[in-house]
Amino acid sequence: MSNQYDADVIVIGSGALGSNAATILARSGKSVIILEAGEKIPRWKIVENFRNSSKKGNYNSPYPNDPWAHHSYDEQYIENTGPFDFRPGMLKLVGGTTWHWAAACWRYLPNDMKLKSLYGVGRDWPMEYSELEPYYQKAEEALGVCGSDTDDQSGQGGSAFPPRSKPYPMEPEGETYLFQRLKSRLSPAGYHFIHEPNGRATRTYDGRPACSGNNNCMPVCPIGAMYSGDKHAQHAEDAGAILMTDSTAWKLEKGTDDKIIAVHVRSSKGIDTRLTAKYFIVAAHGLETPKLLLISDIANSSDRVGRNLMDHTGMGLQFLADEPLWPGRGAVQQGGNI
Ligand SMILES: Cc1cc2nc3c(=O)[nH]c(=O)nc-3n(C[C@H](O)[C@H](O)[C@H](O)COP(=O)(O)OP(=O)(O)OC[C@H]3O[C@@H](n4cnc5c(N)ncnc54)[C@H](O)[C@@H]3O)c2cc1C
Ligand code: SF4
Repeated sequence: MSNQYDADVIVIGSGALGSNAATILARSGKSVIILEAGEKIPRWKIVENFRNSSKKGNYNSPYPNDPWAHHSYDEQYIENTGPFDFRPGMLKLVGGTTWHWAAACWRYLPNDMKLKSLYGVGRDWPMEYSELEPYYQKAEEALGVCGSDTDDQSGQGGSAFPPRSKPYPMEPEGETYLFQRLKSRLSPAGYHFIHEPNGRATRTYDGRPACSGNNNCMPVCPIGAMYSGDKHAQHAEDAGAILMTDSTAWKLEKGTDDKIIAVHVRSSKGIDTRLTAKYFIVAAHGLETPKLLLISDIANSSDRVGRNLMDHTGMGLQFLADEPLWPGRGAVQQGGNI
């Protein structure tokens, strides 16, 4: 590192995205500072909070919600002005929101990149699936994804799809009774129930134990078999990155050429610090990243920052089965009909 700067790279946010970037950079010898608004909390403490919580259906309830690092389930966090109450479950602690994600790790399919030319809707992507494929593979190896190398994810019930350059890092978990029954009952009707590729270790992987199938993945995997960003926050620290908790980046400072030259950081006690680096990575989640860029009037020559935010659509279906299916075993998400 040049003495001119506090670090080669400052990463804002210690979630899956920021911590993976920080790990790669620190391992390649760069000096890295990670700024994290929340605290570093041990897994046992989150598990204990969950046990003691009276709101077990609220996946945010076991996690900290400090006045200086609000998670997004606060009524006041997002000012919804439209007819739809948008409240995604963003978390603020070391490791970020993947602490309570479902760990589904589907790739986009080649057809997803060509919606306009194949189906006449939306727009085509400016790149092909084949160009993204090696990066999907890298991400799956970093996150430790298990999946089936034979399932057809196109829904046709044919041979393995989409194409892969290498097998999944791990084999799928064993099929639960529920999975087996859905598969055998739905297949004759042409609905191909397949395994969901997911970030659960099915053998020891990168320091994680194999999934023991106790179905608590949301809001927290008690044993850390499911991937969460705290793994890479720790990897980054082990590789020499400095992790600063209780450190909210509240402003990016521009230099004469409009490039970021410093970040202004505030602690819960109101102490302000100005930190400089050659490069900055803003990885503060889809809500907080545009907020910080807009507050700082940075990187918005397109006027698109903070617009067109999309969540994935979700649909819940319930049914009464005509036979006992014994759910509640294995991971919270196991498979699906595509
Ligand atoms: C209930 C739930 C289930 C989900 N399931 C899936 C799934 O199955 N598959 C899937 O692909 N995705 C899923 N997601 C989405 C996935 O969790 C997120 O896309 C992912 O965590 C985003 O990672 P990130 O690193 O960008 O942000 P985060 O993980 O949110 O990390 C951002 C970090 O930045 C910190 N931060 C924010 N602002 C500042 C600031 N100003 N200064 C300093 N630090 C700051 C935060 O404290 C946080 O630690 C799910 C999400 C939820 C809520
Ligand atoms: S089933 Fe249990 S051990 Fe497996 S990922 Fe979910 S919570 Fe963790």
